[in-house]
Amino acid sequence: MMRTMRIAILLLAVASLPGTGGLHAGDVPRAPIVQHGYQRVTTHEELLTYLGQLEGKGPITRVETIGTTTQRRTIPMVVISNGPSATKLRVMVFCSQHGNEPSGKEAALILLERIARGELDPLLATIDLWLVPSANPDGNELQQRWNGAGKDLNRDHLILMQPETRALHDVYDRILPEATLDVHEFQTSGKAWEEAGYYRTMDEQWGAPTNPNVGIWLRRYGVETMFPAMKAGLEADGFRFYNYTIVGSPADTMRHSTTNVNDGRQSLAGQGSYSFILEGRNGATFHDEIGRRTKGQLSALTHYLAFVSAHAGTIRAAVSAARAAIPAGRDSVVLLAEYLFSGEAMPMPVRTIAGGKDSVIRVLHRSMPTPLVRTARPAAYVIPAAQHLLIDLMRRHHVAMRTLTAPTAMRVEVQTVQRWKTRIFEEDPTLFPDIVRHETERTFAAGDVLVPLDQLKAMLIMLALEPASVWGVVQYDPFAPLRVVGAEYPVYRVLNQ
Ligand SMILES: [Zn+2]
Repeated sequence: MMRTMRIAILLLAVASLPGTGGLHAGDVPRAPIVQHGYQRVTTHEELLTYLGQLEGKGPITRVETIGTTTQRRTIPMVVISNGPSATKLRVMVFCSQHGNEPSGKEAALILLERIARGELDPLLATIDLWLVPSANPDGNELQQRWNGAGKDLNRDHLILMQPETRALHDVYDRILPEATLDVHEFQTSGKAWEEAGYYRTMDEQWGAPTNPNVGIWLRRYGVETMFPAMKAGLEADGFRFYNYTIVGSPADTMRHSTTNVNDGRQSLAGQGSYSFILEGRNGATFHDEIGRRTKGQLSALTHYLAFVSAHAGTIRAAVSAARAAIPAGRDSVVLLAEYLFSGEAMPMPVRTIAGGKDSVIRVLHRSMPTPLVRTARPAAYVIPAAQHLLIDLMRRHHVAMRTLTAPTAMRVEVQTVQRWKTRIFEEDPTLFPDIVRHETERTFAAGDVLVPLDQLKAMLIMLALEPASVWGVVQYDPFAPLRVVGAEYPVYRVLNQ
């Protein structure tokens, strides 16, 4: 451990030396926001022009178009490598899924300038990087959270109905990065905070996966090992670290953000990736304090890359083990978990709105989600041929499936939903079914689809398809036809194959 830490510190020192880039440094134009004196956010047109100028410089191997938005803007991804890759850690970073959170995009462009100059070459000895600087170009141009179709992309990573999220998952499935990072901004305030007279002043919040179905190493290692390094690095650069939490008011109990697998962090962690969310402090408006916001994100991104580079071997080995465990898993799957109050309190840095006085308050904390409902893992599912919504969903996730070519008898569990109750889960109305299960021999028709679970997507498939999953597709309006009452839920649990 000491040795790797020392290497990390050395690499950081090298990375921050000016002029180590050598050959191409003179040819690399400054990032657009630097050219504009940090006065405003970069337009999508300027971003595309800038990436074109960087392509081929230093380790910036190429710029790919990975998708097209509903308003016909292209989504570029920058591929960064300085040589043969077989043993390197594959790292994928995507920024500004929420269009009104542009600082991740701006930091990514400055990072690319530094990479093109060769300043991060020491880190690239152990990692390759796939960087999507602007994952929601329409929303970014419209200065809004949603994409051009009015949808929240960071709630779409399970159902994949939007071109932007499909593009990210197509790339993920193609390159299978071991480490993934989703970069956002957070609100410092809110009505209840304003009434209490405070706003929160942490600069960069880091969030680990919290869904209890995600392997424990993936949930804990970053929190215990990487977050202290992020805290030290950010503080050295003049920024405040915090573990990502949400809290409605000073009197509320805070918790880590959602357990849902529909966000960029959790959906990829559910497939065994070392996955995080980074949240930088936002501004009062789209352009407000964009320089301060960008520099905070750049500091966090730089320390993150230094950490994963220094720990590349450890992360690769652990991710490989996590990915082998998912298809082979025999444990039950958790369908409901809730943050229960643990009695802890956490110090939180705040500033008074009147007078701007800094202080630290203590806020009650719900630290870990507790599993409350589980079900045994089946060997596979059968989806009847008529269920196009579900079969198309499996296709969008590149799930391995087998279409039956002849009538086939199987031992299955049938789930009949007697009624759907609604109650609030993580602030949203959520469906909880009353289910009666029975076991039977059933002959399925040619054309029906068998979805085996001995694949990397197994956990995501179970969480998506089980009707009692609070994270399941039945919770989404486009899948409302699945909300049958007094009839069989049209997904069958295969007991043996
Ligand atoms: Zn966001």
